[in-house]
Amino acid sequence: MTTQDEVRKLAIDLEDKNAQEVVKWAISTYGSKVAISTSLQADSMVIIDMAIRIDKNVKVFTIDTGRLPQQTYDLIDKVRERYGIRISVYFPDSEEISQMVSKHGSNPFYRSVSLRLLCCSVRKVNPINHALEMEGIDVWMTGLRRTQVETRAQTPKLQIDSSHPGLTKINPLADWSYDQVWEYINSNDVPYNHLYDEGYTSIGCAPCTRPTESGESDRAGRWWWEKGIPKECGIHVGPAWGRTI
Ligand code: SF4
Repeated sequence: MTTQDEVRKLAIDLEDKNAQEVVKWAISTYGSKVAISTSLQADSMVIIDMAIRIDKNVKVFTIDTGRLPQQTYDLIDKVRERYGIRISVYFPDSEEISQMVSKHGSNPFYRSVSLRLLCCSVRKVNPINHALEMEGIDVWMTGLRRTQVETRAQTPKLQIDSSHPGLTKINPLADWSYDQVWEYINSNDVPYNHLYDEGYTSIGCAPCTRPTESGESDRAGRWWWEKGIPKECGIHVGPAWGRTI
């Protein structure tokens, strides 16, 4: 699969398939060339559970930003034990962290959007770029859903990854609602981050995530102090992200 036209045609075909069928298709088509990217949120836990039922050796990787909540670390270990799988954990570059913290302090993200984007770039975006290279894959699967936030409203189930040339992204839960995610988790006894029990509806780094109120969007608790800025860290937006803000 190399051209935009081929991807578009496949995306149309996949639109009619349910999430399990999309995960199965991805694994049977790409084998060791596909990996699941997870931040251990509920959405990607569903994908991990579906994938493990098809292939126990499916690749799974995550980014440890160094600022995750303890509950997320607990869940990483729980998932390893529960499914008996390896989760590859990638870290930010220590020199980049040292330079950023030495210059801007430990919590620069509260001071300006540009410093928040710098931190997300150093702690998340650069490590995931490195992870995608190291995994040796052609395709990555994510838990992106259209109803998470406006910037994801057009998410297809299959897309060329404009930020990572040569890679394709598969989003099996693109058309799922938040409630569907939890129906699956509860019906299948899937392990989840216990911060959800405390009112969180999306979970990222500890200093940048709070619980949400009724009626708020799933990602309203992410960088809650920012106004009018998309609730994105930069991983799932195009290469121009950050330069236009
Ligand atoms: S979510 Fe916050 S702490 Fe985590 S990388 Fe982004 S700005 Fe930094």
